[in-house]
Order: sequence, then C-alpha cells, then structure tokens
Amino acid sequence: MSTISANFGIEKALNLLGVKNINEGTSTGLNNFSAGDVLESYSPVDGQLIGKVATTTKDDYEKVMDAATKAFKIWRLMPAPQRGEIVRQFGDKLREKKEALGKLVSYEMGKSYQEGLGEVREMIDICDFAVGLSRQLHGLTMHSERPGHRMYEQYHPLGVVGIISAFNFPVAVWAWNTALAWVCGDVTVWKPSEKTPLCGIACQNIAAEVFKANNLPEGISCLINGDSKVGEFMTKDTRIPLISATGSTRMGKMVAQEVAARLGKSLLELGGNNAIIVTPDADIKMTVIGAVFGAVGTCGQRCTSTRRLIIHESIYDKVKTAVSDAYKQLRIGNPLDEKNHVGPLIDTDAVKMYQNALTKVVEDGGTVIVEGGVLRGAGYESGCYVKPAIAEAKPEFKIVQHETFAPVLYLLKYSGDVDNAIEIQNNVAQGLSSAIMTNNLREAERFLSVSGSDCGIANVNIGTSGAEIGGAFGGEKETGGGRESGSDAWKVYMRRQTNTINYTTELPLAQGIKFDL
Ligand code: NAD
Repeated sequence: MSTISANFGIEKALNLLGVKNINEGTSTGLNNFSAGDVLESYSPVDGQLIGKVATTTKDDYEKVMDAATKAFKIWRLMPAPQRGEIVRQFGDKLREKKEALGKLVSYEMGKSYQEGLGEVREMIDICDFAVGLSRQLHGLTMHSERPGHRMYEQYHPLGVVGIISAFNFPVAVWAWNTALAWVCGDVTVWKPSEKTPLCGIACQNIAAEVFKANNLPEGISCLINGDSKVGEFMTKDTRIPLISATGSTRMGKMVAQEVAARLGKSLLELGGNNAIIVTPDADIKMTVIGAVFGAVGTCGQRCTSTRRLIIHESIYDKVKTAVSDAYKQLRIGNPLDEKNHVGPLIDTDAVKMYQNALTKVVEDGGTVIVEGGVLRGAGYESGCYVKPAIAEAKPEFKIVQHETFAPVLYLLKYSGDVDNAIEIQNNVAQGLSSAIMTNNLREAERFLSVSGSDCGIANVNIGTSGAEIGGAFGGEKETGGGRESGSDAWKVYMRRQTNTINYTTELPLAQGIKFDL
C-alpha cells in the first residue's frame, strides 16, 4: 500500500468496509463467484492498484437472478412500512460507516473527501426520505360513473429492478434507486461502473449486513460486476421490467433501444451541457463562487458541472476577469487532503479527452484564456491531474455543443435581452441543469417560464451543480427524460393498477352501453 493510503486512513477504511485485500472478487454471500475475468481497480489519486474484482459471468448472472427472483417473492409480501424499517436500519449503518465510505469514494473515484462524505450524506438523506415514503405510496380514489361501484388505483411493486451506474457518483446514484425501489417492494440488481467496483462491493457488504440481521435474503440487493457486456445481460433480460441507467448519452441510446425492443421500461439519467446565464443584474461575487465550484468541483466530472457561462456583453470583461482570477487560487492535488480544491480525473483516457477539447476549441477559433495542462512530478504520479481551463468560444462550436467530462469552461457572450441568452442556453442537445444569476425579477421569471429554460433543473442565483434529494432529479432531450430521487419519482418503480368494485346485484356497463340477455 502507498503512503497516501496509509497517511489518509485508506487501509483502515478498506478494512472496515470489507474490501481490504479484495482479490479476484472475494466478497460476501451472493457475490462470491470468481469465474470471470479480473477487473483491476486503480486509484486515480496515486495510481496504486486498490483491488481486483471478478467480472460476473453469464452463469453467475443466472445465479444472481435466481436469488433476486426468489427474494422478490418474500420481500413484496412484507408491508411497505416494515420495508421502510429495513431501509431505516440501512441508513443507520451508513451513518456508522460514513467516514470510511466517503474515503473509499474519494480514493477510488478521485473526488474530494468532502464530496465523498457528501455522497454518503445523500445516501442517508434518501434513506430517510424513503422511510417516510413507505407510509405514503398512495393511489387516488375516483368517483365511478356507475351506481354502487367504487373505483380507485393502487401501486404494486414491479419486480427486479436493474441499476446501471456511472463512475462519477459511485455510491449515491445506487442509493437513490435502491432506497426507493426497496420501499416500493422491488428487489435490485446493481452493476456499478467498471471504474469503481470496490465502492459497489462496500455498499453490498453494508446492505448484506442489514438483511442478514433481519433474516432476510441478501437477494433483495444484488451486485454484478463488469463492463457494458455485463450490463447487457440485464438490458436484454425480460425478467427485469425496469432498467435505471445513469451514464453517457451514448450508453443511454444503446440501453434505451435494447430495453424498448422487449417493451421494458427504462429510466435514463444521461449527459448534460449545463450553462449559467449571467445578466447585467447578476451579483458578481455569487456568480464567481457558483461558476467556479460548478466548473471545477469533482474535477468537472459531475453530470451537472457548469460547462458554459453565457455572459451579457456589458459585464463580459468584468466576469471574465473575476472568474479567471478565482482560478489562480485553485489548489490541485490529492483529494483526500482537505486543503486541495481539485483532485484528479478518473483515468488517463479522461485526460486525453480533456486535452482533445482544448485543442478542438482553438481549432474552431476559440481562445484559451486560462491555460490547461497535465500536471507531472511528485504527488501527480497517477498522470490524472489536470489544470482547470477556461476558453472563450462561440455557442455553435462543435466542441461547445459536446459534453467533455473534464474541467473546461467555455465563456460565451450574449447581447440584447435575456431571451437571447435563453436561446443560446437551450440550443444544445442535452437538457439537464441550468441556472441564471440575476437580481432582476422579470429576467428570473422569464428564465423559469414556458419559453424559458428547457432543462429538468432550472435554478435562480444558484449554480448548476449540487441538487437536493427532495426534488425529482433528471433532464430532458439527450439527458434521457428520467426522474429519480424525490418528489413522486417513486412511481416509476411501481406498477399502477385501477380497481373497480361493483357492490350491487346489477351489472351496468360503462358509457351506458346496453347489453341485455
Ligand atoms: P458510461 O456511459 O461510460 O458508463 C455508465 C455505465 O453504463 C457503466 O456502468 C457502463 O459499464 C455501463 N454501460 C455502458 N454501455 C452499456 C451498454 N451498452 N449496456 C449496458 N450498460 C452499459 O458513463 P461514465 O463515463 O461512467 O459516466 C459519465 C457520464 O455519466 C457523463 O456523461 C455524465 O453526464 C453521466 N451522468 C449522468 C447523471 C445524471 O443523473 N444525468 C449522473 C451521473 C453521470
């Protein structure tokens, strides 16, 4: 083990989470299969090999599906508030292991320790939300048009829910899905990103502990490991009525087609190309904080990261200077060290995409005003540390229209009124998160109106990144249209049934149709 892992308590965390000395897939219960190819997890923090995990073979997958299908028959019969009690215990276990899991997230994925802790906090929050929800899975009651009839709707669990998740939120996105699916009476099979498999095993171990303590089958929460080929076992599987997939738009298009071909349901959470509009009435200090955190937080690897700043020409130079100056304060380095603001990218492929974006923007006619570059030398041995960059660009540049998952911020200028900025903001394929910085009520309301932002998330005087679990989370257009987390997102994890009961001795037909025998 490297000095970093020793100095920052990583070994202790791995031990506590049951992922120390993971060798070719040894894990608890269900996942103790080791026939498949080996998946190695290297930390982008220091380039060290953290562990090896076996990928799930088709035979293993069948065993997992068998366990999940059997577990569903038990779990669905448990009253929803009792399922909520299990989720409450799971939330408590997460509270106990918050620091350890936050550290593993930081070490395996590369986000700051604070953001790692934030992810675990999000898991705990969604558990609390789901516990309350377990007593509120309401359907409506309607008035029947026929005398002596009662009509209402109720929600039943769907069955096995497949979860495919991305590397950048290696634990929270799973929890958003599972906490809701579990209280709804579904069981889950999760394929985490092949880039963060140990986070998956750690979460599985925590869930397994809770199910074991309650004499419930571990099959309620299943884990499979591997890349897109393993994901395809689920997308093609007619035993899985719902696939919740988080990742790139490219992946979402493939998943959507596979699942639609068998008329399954998919919940898609895909790429974003998020912008902040900065109007002449913006508070510049707030704008700088929101824009810089949005662009460099998680090293620009959030689906909601700020990629475009659309600035009014009258304040363009002022904002450009203020944001560029703020970039000079950024400390780049080991994300476990809390004095650093920016950690590494996930791997060297991501570094290449970042470099490519900076080359492309110049080729398209843009100007890099805060130089990027890959950091080398002591502390940067993994080769994944890059300098957050800023480029002046035009909205129509191909590279600006594309989501580069790295800390590259494009400055775009608008003139005239806020409608012109909204048009630029909407004129991309993605529709996840958007924001306006303004103290002008008319501008804010126009941004939120029917002809305003076309995104799933639209904020006023807040940046694009960082969402609370209480609201439904997701986006439109190439972001996939899915909604997860709060509000009524739970409904996607259930099937709706309309029930009509006749308590008379007559059989009147709807719409007054006569059928006399
Ligand atoms: P990715 O698309 O490369 O992989 C995501 C997951 O999909 C992985 O588990 C991968 O193995 C799996 N996968 C890929 N192709 C598949 C296929 N054909 N069938 C089944 N599974 C398949 O994404 P990534 O690089 O891990 O994550 C970054 C992307 O995720 C960015 O585009 C980001 O915006 C997006 N993201 C979106 C949200 C959101 O809520 N909208 C949240 C997090 C990340």
